[in-house]
Amino acid sequence: MKTTHTVAVFCTVSMIATSSLAALYGAPPDKRHAWQVHDTRREAPAIVAPGARPGDAPADAVVLFDGSDLSQWEANKPEKGVPTKWRLVNGALESVKGAGYIRTRQSFGDCQLHVEWATPTEVKGNSQGRGNSGVFLMGLYEVQVLDCYNNFTYPDGQAGSVYGQSPPLVNVSRGPGQWQSYDIIFRQPRFQNGELVREGYLTLLHNGALVQDHWVLEGPTGHKRRTKLRPHDDKLQLRIQDHGNPVRFRNIWIRELPERSGGGLKGPLTDPAAVQGKRNEIAAEIRQEANATSVPLQKAQLLMESLAYESRPEIERSVVALLSEFLAPLKNADRATVEAKKAPILALRTSVKYLSTNQIVAADFPPLKVLETLVRKHDLDPKRK
Ligand code: MG
Repeated sequence: MKTTHTVAVFCTVSMIATSSLAALYGAPPDKRHAWQVHDTRREAPAIVAPGARPGDAPADAVVLFDGSDLSQWEANKPEKGVPTKWRLVNGALESVKGAGYIRTRQSFGDCQLHVEWATPTEVKGNSQGRGNSGVFLMGLYEVQVLDCYNNFTYPDGQAGSVYGQSPPLVNVSRGPGQWQSYDIIFRQPRFQNGELVREGYLTLLHNGALVQDHWVLEGPTGHKRRTKLRPHDDKLQLRIQDHGNPVRFRNIWIRELPERSGGGLKGPLTDPAAVQGKRNEIAAEIRQEANATSVPLQKAQLLMESLAYESRPEIERSVVALLSEFLAPLKNADRATVEAKKAPILALRTSVKYLSTNQIVAADFPPLKVLETLVRKHDLDPKRK
């Protein structure tokens, strides 16, 4: 809300329709949008308690490692539930040479993943041999972990690369032994009947800097070779690589992400039939509210609001009848009588004008002319003063 005028409209409307504060306020629903702009009927996002400090897990995250135990992890063996030989060292999870990859006990698909890691303080080896590990989303797609501070290697194998596919946009590595962070937004490729129906994407922030910008995944990670996407389950275990170097990890948490589209109220609805379905649902709810009220103008206001979501000729006729009942005695009333009804007259005019301007009702919708005449005749418009 930018102007005092907007606030004024809000208040006058709410005087007769307190249950629908923003009724007929923003641009109306259309083929692509089930809601008005600024629609208070839209489902409010869930409240999630944030972590205490930046980088801490929000309340809805699955904490995979908080420094205290390895209960969320197992060895990457054919059998399930084999404890890993990776070590717990001063609140960090340290890779052990020869112990093999570790994997989460739980499986995940689309996710937001936070991982902190540090390569060994003592610098050993070069190129891919220095502080190498990796985070494998779904166990398949590697985000490289490597000491890339003054350590040349092939760009598509640097820290922050999607290994073998996409170098990071910048090298924002900290030095050996220092803690670094990855924040990954991962959308898996989706398959139906063995066919790819949606590409997979990976976005990565390394130490807060964007290094992968919605990278389209080409295939599971390979070494020295290109791979092709192949169908897989919607949820698979996350893996972290043992590449022979004692890389440490801490503060690992993951948030599962809902589908971006077709996901109901929170995601955008892309299918026009789904949009209209949602609009009809909202309209029905508003009509129910209208039926529950015994105040005629409130009822009229609610029914008008419902028309913005779903056009129904019989509802339009009800609105005309309700408004005529209110307006008829005012047509030839004296100024004092009309003045006393100024607030509802102006609020109704706002709503009726909204419907007419947005072509929800016809430009010659009968109550509009009556309201305009009343406002002009008695000089009720606050904007003209
Ligand atoms: Mg690696």
